[in-house]
Amino acid sequence: MADDLKQAVARRRTFAIISHPDAGKTTLTEKLLLFGGAIQLAGEVKAKKDRMNTRSDWMKIERERGISVVTSVMTFEYDDHVFNLLDTPGHEDFADDTYRTLTAVDSAIMVIDAAKGIEPRTLKLFEVCRLRNIPIITFVNKMDRETRDPFEILDEIEDKLALDTAPVTWPVGRGKTFAGTYHLADNAMRTTDAQEHREIVEGPRSAKVAGLLPANERDAFTEELELAREACRPFNRQSFLEGHLTPVYFGSALRNFGVRDLIEALGEHAPQPRDQEADSRTVSSTERGMTGFVFKIQANMDPNHRDRIAFMRVCSGTLKRGMKAKLTRTGKALSLSAPQFFFARSRITADEAFAGDVVGIPNHGTLRIGDTLTDGEELLFRGVPNFAPEILRRVRLGDAMKAKKLKEALQQMAEEGVVQLFTPEDGSPAIVGVVGALQLDVLKQRLDVEYSLPVDFEVARFSICRWISADNEAELQRFINAHRADMARDLDDDPVFLAQHTFSLNYEADRWKDIRFADIKDYQ
Ligand code: GDP
Repeated sequence: MADDLKQAVARRRTFAIISHPDAGKTTLTEKLLLFGGAIQLAGEVKAKKDRMNTRSDWMKIERERGISVVTSVMTFEYDDHVFNLLDTPGHEDFADDTYRTLTAVDSAIMVIDAAKGIEPRTLKLFEVCRLRNIPIITFVNKMDRETRDPFEILDEIEDKLALDTAPVTWPVGRGKTFAGTYHLADNAMRTTDAQEHREIVEGPRSAKVAGLLPANERDAFTEELELAREACRPFNRQSFLEGHLTPVYFGSALRNFGVRDLIEALGEHAPQPRDQEADSRTVSSTERGMTGFVFKIQANMDPNHRDRIAFMRVCSGTLKRGMKAKLTRTGKALSLSAPQFFFARSRITADEAFAGDVVGIPNHGTLRIGDTLTDGEELLFRGVPNFAPEILRRVRLGDAMKAKKLKEALQQMAEEGVVQLFTPEDGSPAIVGVVGALQLDVLKQRLDVEYSLPVDFEVARFSICRWISADNEAELQRFINAHRADMARDLDDDPVFLAQHTFSLNYEADRWKDIRFADIKDYQ
């Protein structure tokens, strides 16, 4: 039994794809799923027809703007591995959703457009991965188009990301002449035919390699390949796992080329589900007790029922359908009578999930982002972050009679992670905070459609918010008392200081040396 658990965990790879819009994340995702032969989108477990009918109108925003608002989980199998791909919203206005999802993965694929190199969002997302020591595999995409020189791309990764590179494959030709990849360490070629035939060749000067390229490109290519073999760093797994080095693969997602190299790299090199830090101890992914944490809440598409699905990453043990779990924030028991498993081919629901898997738990508002579930142990995982919002707005409601309803609705939206909610200490109307303006559109639409609450947003007097804390409780209280009009409480009742601008924040920080002003708060 214990061995079965170890094996089940060892097979799993839970990862995300990070990239700048247009680099090819969607195309690559599709191609990866093709290899697994199974496509299962989170939320599609219910009959599809049913879902289409009940999808609420707020999804219009997504459709109209052609963006993906909802994070989903896709699971597929290949070569005896189980891959859990956690998708993230492409639009940067939903960046906090992406950051939270990155807390639930063990590795990431960074997709780079071969003509553009490292773009701003790739850089930002890479930084989040680095903060969490997530190992990165790099895929240089669109090699079938005009590209930059591969050496130049590697240099740019090293310079901009301060990350060592180890090209595992090298492109044979580029643009129109792109014909395959050459595996530098084992002298193997993979050609761009349908089977992605792989064969060992004698070396860069092999006639097989030369035969793939037009005569006028051959000499230059052989030289380039020899240089790559001599000058580039070899892959070192330890260094990769520690986040110092990225193995680099070249390919074309559109032409389904190089994707097999990538999926095999994930299986071979990417880490299995990691051990997870909790408040009291480190939880090993292979221990028997079930633990997990919620990193995402998705509203059900049916406005009449208002139920939600909490996405939980299992961190250890075996999650079984029907088991009773303990929600450690409240100490209450929660029956997992209908957990939704997104793995296996063709929608066969499974009865068990292991570390690294993501299960959807339907609930009516019991679960929040950051919650820990166990099979009894008193334990809290930390580390699903809350980022200080960039935009703060007061919510204005036309009909004052509905104030209580609004309060409840905002609370629910905040628990889902749609917005952050701050309740001012002076009793003035609630303030919502978001990272991007589109989140406000989603909030407005959903309040209207799901709760019949038409609202408007007013610019608040404040533009910055910071979580405050101090080692000395009395000092913290003194600060709060001195700033009543600028204080609010977040969803967990933690104190938040609202500042008009950076100047006033710096001024206060200067005067109150013992108070910490944090722009990231980890959920607990
Ligand atoms: P995303 O925004 O990162 O999800 O990017 P998409 O996967 O939607 O791709 C953006 C555009 O690039 C689409 O028009 C794709 O067809 C195209 N594309 C993606 N991969 C490749 C590739 O390998 N080669 C070429 N030529 N085009 C690609």
